[in-house]
Amino acid sequence: MAKEKIIGIDLGTTNSVVAVMDGKETIVLENPAGKRTTPSVVAWKNGERIVGEIAKRQLETNPDSIASVKRLMGTNEKVKVKVDGKEQEFTPEQVSAFILMYLKEYAEKKVGSKIEKAVITVPAYFNNDQREATKVAGKIAGLDVVRIINEPTAAALSYGVDKKDKEQKILVYDLGGGTFDVSILELSEGTFEVLATSGDNHLGGDDWDNVIVDWIKDKIKKDNNFDVSKDKMAMSRLKEAAEKAKIELSGSDSTTINLPFLAITDNGPLNVELELKRSDFEKMTANLVDRTRKPIMDALKEAGLKASDLDEVLLVGGSTRIPAVQKMVEQTLGKAPNRTINPDEVVAIGAAVQGGVLAGDVSDVLLLDVTPLTLGIVTEGDIIAPLIKRNTTIPVTKSQVFSTAADNQTEVSIVVVQGEREVLEGNKVLGQFNLSGIDPAPRGVPQIEVSFSIDVNGITTVTAKDKKNNKEATITIQNSTRLSDEEIEKMVKDAEAHKEEDQKRKEERSTIIRAESLINMMEKSITDSKDMDPKMKEQSEKEIATLKEMIEKKQIEELKTKLDQIEQAASMYANQQANKAATEKEDDNNDGPIKAEVEEEK
Ligand code: AMP
Repeated sequence: MAKEKIIGIDLGTTNSVVAVMDGKETIVLENPAGKRTTPSVVAWKNGERIVGEIAKRQLETNPDSIASVKRLMGTNEKVKVKVDGKEQEFTPEQVSAFILMYLKEYAEKKVGSKIEKAVITVPAYFNNDQREATKVAGKIAGLDVVRIINEPTAAALSYGVDKKDKEQKILVYDLGGGTFDVSILELSEGTFEVLATSGDNHLGGDDWDNVIVDWIKDKIKKDNNFDVSKDKMAMSRLKEAAEKAKIELSGSDSTTINLPFLAITDNGPLNVELELKRSDFEKMTANLVDRTRKPIMDALKEAGLKASDLDEVLLVGGSTRIPAVQKMVEQTLGKAPNRTINPDEVVAIGAAVQGGVLAGDVSDVLLLDVTPLTLGIVTEGDIIAPLIKRNTTIPVTKSQVFSTAADNQTEVSIVVVQGEREVLEGNKVLGQFNLSGIDPAPRGVPQIEVSFSIDVNGITTVTAKDKKNNKEATITIQNSTRLSDEEIEKMVKDAEAHKEEDQKRKEERSTIIRAESLINMMEKSITDSKDMDPKMKEQSEKEIATLKEMIEKKQIEELKTKLDQIEQAASMYANQQANKAATEKEDDNNDGPIKAEVEEEK
């Protein structure tokens, strides 16, 4: 039996592409219309479901058509259409599945065998819900989605798979219909490592279209005193004409927008004929082009690189055909983008390469993605212990040893958080679980090993284990990437803004914890040592009262000085006692001081 093929699918907002590996080659599969890209449009006509080119052709006239469903992935929104006269509701996953079914069907015909597995690409900043929804769509379509990979990563994979020997740093600028992503990758000996990602989930070709739509609307208002916005049909034609004009302006200096009988006004039918120059279009959309500059700079900063360190700049997505976009990228990075790749097909080809890797047809290729935010746990005083820092390459496993905060504590609660703040506040709690059955012991003695693992699909597992009795508890978090790029950016910015304040709070809390622990010890020794020197007892009680008062009044600096004094005195006293004991030839097996914090890192 022939080896099972894993297809690569770029399930795009506007268009979708399917590719597959054939031996060492990747091929883009043609749809029944002979085209290599298939519009991501689904429609119903006379009860029949149609997908792709034919559905797109009637998008304007058939109200029962659905386009750009990718934008709804991961939401609870439903799409309503009439099928055979009856209103029906579909989830975004179902609609995407209709597209996938169509792609799967024609891929099977082209390949000549059944296809059950696929690698599907998603924008780098797709959150977990959106990724899960993509997987579900695959399942509905009868496809086992063996891996979800990020679109820019796929592009780099496609570009670099035959350049494995050359070490290079690549920036992928991906501007599609609705989203913008930047990724910086390092290619070295077949390893594709994502160094940083950034982007804007709400910026794409549609925004350029809308600028033209608004321009036409304003012209109509001015010339005909007619507001076209309320006419749904006219607006849909306007939108289509705007996109057409935008695409034409990528190849010529001016374009004519012709919309005969756009609407009926009080003065009769409205015919629109307008000329739009590329130079005017560029002025109107300059701010949009400019919005892509910051994510580029952010990604460079995050990767610790200068523009001059980049070896290649890849342009991906239909909107990178806009000349002003290409110009800006070249100016910003001081390097002409690579012109050998096809921006429409490169992502699907990369997905097919990853399919080839998973099927065992391609060797020496390893894809390493990163986690977008720091993961850690909450410790005493709501202070965060970070275990996996943001932008760490996944898959990854990290462990740290913690202890108990109170004497004879037999249970610890592990709260898993994501974010950049050093204190709980401002971080996102991903999950919580308890480890019970810890053997009773003084605080700080039990050794609780907490391990974090993130797998290739971004799924996190956290385990806590009592190293003494091997008792274990585990939680699996499916949603460690459940945040949108805005949320991620906000969390990073907030952390920056609160850095000083957080550090102050962290220090404040750890000083209070230190004081409380000392009070505990002192009180314990008063009750335990019945024959304590009354003078010393009185002194201790006085110190305890002072410490408590300082905690109460939050006199942190004074508290620190006081703690240092007491601890110094205690250590001197302990030394004296030890010397005394040594001279008395008594064996002294004092335990070391108790630490309730991190003891080791692996
Ligand atoms: P994608 O999601 O990569 O298929 O990109 C789709 C977006 O690219 C849509 O907004 C298209 O209007 C836009 N697009 C496609 N071709 C061109 C072109 N030649 N010039 C400008 N924009 C284009």
